[in-house]
Amino acid sequence: MTATIINGNAVAAEIRNDCRERVKRIVARGATPPGLAVILVGSDPASEIYVRNKIRACRDVGIRSVEVRFPPDVNQRSVIERIGVLNDDPSIHGILVQLPLPPSFDIAKILHAISVEKDVDGFHLYNVGGLVAGGTVFPPCTPFGVVKLLEHERIPIEGKNVVVVGASNIVGKPMALMLMQHEATVSICHAKTRDLAQFTILADILIVAAGKPKLILPQMVRTGAVVIDVGINRLKDGTLVGDVDFDGVAAKASYITPVPGGVGPMTVSMLLYNTIGSCERRHQVTKPASTSDTNTLVAAK
Ligand code: NAD
Repeated sequence: MTATIINGNAVAAEIRNDCRERVKRIVARGATPPGLAVILVGSDPASEIYVRNKIRACRDVGIRSVEVRFPPDVNQRSVIERIGVLNDDPSIHGILVQLPLPPSFDIAKILHAISVEKDVDGFHLYNVGGLVAGGTVFPPCTPFGVVKLLEHERIPIEGKNVVVVGASNIVGKPMALMLMQHEATVSICHAKTRDLAQFTILADILIVAAGKPKLILPQMVRTGAVVIDVGINRLKDGTLVGDVDFDGVAAKASYITPVPGGVGPMTVSMLLYNTIGSCERRHQVTKPASTSDTNTLVAAK
């Protein structure tokens, strides 16, 4: 078997085209266009690249972006105060804080300062709780992007054995909860899991987000499984790879995502999608019904 390679760039571009049309409709009504504030503390080189990409993507679809920069030694209170100002700004529909933050910061405190209605990254406790109880306003972008990729390829989720490798708050845990909402049978593995392969071999859909190159080898994957590689690792020679031995596993899987060009571009597109959704809710614009939307709560003021 040779896997179909899922083209994340193409799916992400489709979503961006849809986003561009949604922004045009908002503007055509004479309403305020969507606005996203991106907060960056310090100058972590990877964060600089992520922020630049997000701002460029906003421009591409017509979202107004505001970059808010703080020096690495800024007081946490100053950042929270600035978030408060952005929460009250009606031209801003989404606020994201680029992670990681300097070690002295209480990340939870910062993230919870963001208004639920503007939490387009989906990290606020209310949004996290909504993944368990229903009523999420903004599904977290990376797992949301994975679900969109599966839906785009018409890969059924309901009733499937899904194994998620990685249990972080931003990828693994919300991923598992979203797939449970889609009625999959979900197992979560992490760094303390004993004999990872005994779990991964059972997966109809294997989602890997551990940040470890070649963690998943062909003998750990069931023939015909769908393999989604969320990992992004830069090797010493500068090459970007995922967590999966791509060539070996592609020979066995039915579908596989490449790195780069798989999940990565979807994350940014879902951020745009969530920001426009926030703006639409504010203006109470009804967008065309989609069966795949996970966000259910109408939070318009
Ligand atoms: P993290 O370090 O916060 O969490 C990693 C998780 O993997 C932890 O739960 C840990 O227990 C688990 N893990 C580590 N080693 C393991 C092992 N040997 N076996 C099983 N589990 C193991 O990382 P994160 O923020 O969740 O990111 C994970 C990966 O996904 C990273 O490579 C990151 O760069 C990438 N990422 C990609 C996107 C994207 O848009 N494609 C978005 C976010 C993160």
